[in-house]
Amino acid sequence: MKMPQAGLEWRDVRAEMIARGGGDAAWRDGRTAVYVFNAGEDVSHVQHEAYGLYMAENGLGPLAFPSLAQMEKEVIGMGLDLLHGPDGATGAMTSGGTDSITMAIKTARDYARANGTPREGANIVLAQSAHLAFDKAAHLMDIAIRRVPLKTDGSYEADPAAMGEACDASTIMMVGSAPSFPHGIIDPIAALGDVAAKKNVWLHVDACVGGYFAPFARMNGVPVPPFDFEVPQVHSMSADLHKYGYCAKGASTVLFRSEEIYQYMPFDMAGWSGAPMKTPTLAGTRPGGAISAAWAVMNTLGVAGYREKQGLVCETRQRIEEGVKRIGFEILGNPMLGLVAFRHPNHHAFAIYGEIYRRGWFTSVTKEPPSLHLMLSPKHADVVDDYLADLEASVATVAGGLAGPKVEARYS
Ligand SMILES: *Cc1c(COP(=O)(O)O)cnc(C)c1O
Repeated sequence: MKMPQAGLEWRDVRAEMIARGGGDAAWRDGRTAVYVFNAGEDVSHVQHEAYGLYMAENGLGPLAFPSLAQMEKEVIGMGLDLLHGPDGATGAMTSGGTDSITMAIKTARDYARANGTPREGANIVLAQSAHLAFDKAAHLMDIAIRRVPLKTDGSYEADPAAMGEACDASTIMMVGSAPSFPHGIIDPIAALGDVAAKKNVWLHVDACVGGYFAPFARMNGVPVPPFDFEVPQVHSMSADLHKYGYCAKGASTVLFRSEEIYQYMPFDMAGWSGAPMKTPTLAGTRPGGAISAAWAVMNTLGVAGYREKQGLVCETRQRIEEGVKRIGFEILGNPMLGLVAFRHPNHHAFAIYGEIYRRGWFTSVTKEPPSLHLMLSPKHADVVDDYLADLEASVATVAGGLAGPKVEARYS
């Protein structure tokens, strides 16, 4: 591929782009339940316009763009308010969950260093179901990861006692998920808090996929257990705006209980040829559009808008649960939010995955145990019956020994 000598007409380039999308997963009509959150045309319209308004501006320059600095501050304020941030709690917007998690670990590590622990070989203790972003960040910072098996009672929850036993003097962080991605289960954060307090360990709650969902589910009457700063030992949280916050991609929040621990996050440097620079997160340039779109979506939806969308998602999940149970599946644990995983006692989930894929559904799987996995959006309310009919047909195909060639379920 070479750059064209003369520039092409935008009209033609645009048409080509739209044509290329024709081969992608069909998410606009609700047949995709991974990667994309489809909250409807109203939200999509606000995302586009609000992103465009500040697309050229740069969040790296709060003095040049006080507009963006103010919007980021208000986004963080809204997040902290939803997640029981105490007075003095603070945080920053990042480019995504991986970025938020990386920054939380960096902050915990530098805090530990400043406070004399750990001497050597820092480690992080987390459940087997915690997101691999922790491993990635730990790899970057030469921190060891200690994964601990889940409880064996069929709850798919982290096991606080076992995690406590895995902690030692070099543990800089213990992690709970709210919820975990593979099973959609909220870990027992209060119990993890008790253990972390006893061990004097920093507790991080990874609410990347639930942080902007669980508070509204609770307002709607879902019995969400304490999972946020309400639990006193929770030092930091990651919560993605570009998931169930329905904001444009490239937007997450990393939140801290106090300014005192937050101060270990920003990187402040004057020892180079350029002007001194202080950046809160990993990024230098920070896309203004991701900030402005998040601010706009939060303000246009409001609490009522989120409650309505998340209520629809919970209702959809319940319809899916009832439907798949009717077909013979069992649900893993007790999901409360927008993720659900289920397996069949007689047929391998990955064979069924292949058949549902061939019927035009781009969904996902969980590996431990082999299960089908859905991440639901408001749009899925329209397609539940179609999905269940195709799922039933897929199971029949597999049961009849007629399954087609294997379809590999991978993220990349
Ligand atoms: C999505 C997710 C992440 C990572 O977020 P990205 O935005 O994909 O980097 C981390 N933890 C959980 C639980 C997630 O669902």
